Amino acid sequence: MSRNPSEPTLEEACVQRGMRMTDQRRVIARVIEDSSDHPDVEELYRRASSIDARISLSTVYRTVNLFEEAGLITKHDFKDGRARFELIPDEHHDHLIDIRTGKVIEFRNEEIEAIQELIAKRLGYRLIDHRLELYAVPLNEPSSPKAD
Ligand SMILES: [Zn+2]
Repeated sequence: MSRNPSEPTLEEACVQRGMRMTDQRRVIARVIEDSSDHPDVEELYRRASSIDARISLSTVYRTVNLFEEAGLITKHDFKDGRARFELIPDEHHDHLIDIRTGKVIEFRNEEIEAIQELIAKRLGYRLIDHRLELYAVPLNEPSSPKAD
């Protein structure tokens, strides 16, 4: 999800929360902010270490956990065994995951939003949040993987 330019950057938000921002944390924050593809820690490490070769994988792990605990980024499990990260979006969206390529597509559908609220209401609840992930293959491919 791209960033709203009127909102503080991730780095600014960290400073606002009193986090000590080292050069390495700044680089990692910028890499997360510039990524719209929900990268995992390994991918963030690849991108961050290409900017600053001193950045280690464990630094990326620690920093990402720190940002997540501060409520600045969100973690996703798209069933491929890798935790993926993105900034907390300004506006809620859901995800479709292409299980062949791992590509993640963001979408928002008002009918789905409304029906989820309705379901919660019928069960006696007020919906405050939800996650919806669609796992899919491209239409021109067979729907079940062929055993080989
Ligand atoms: Zn997303």
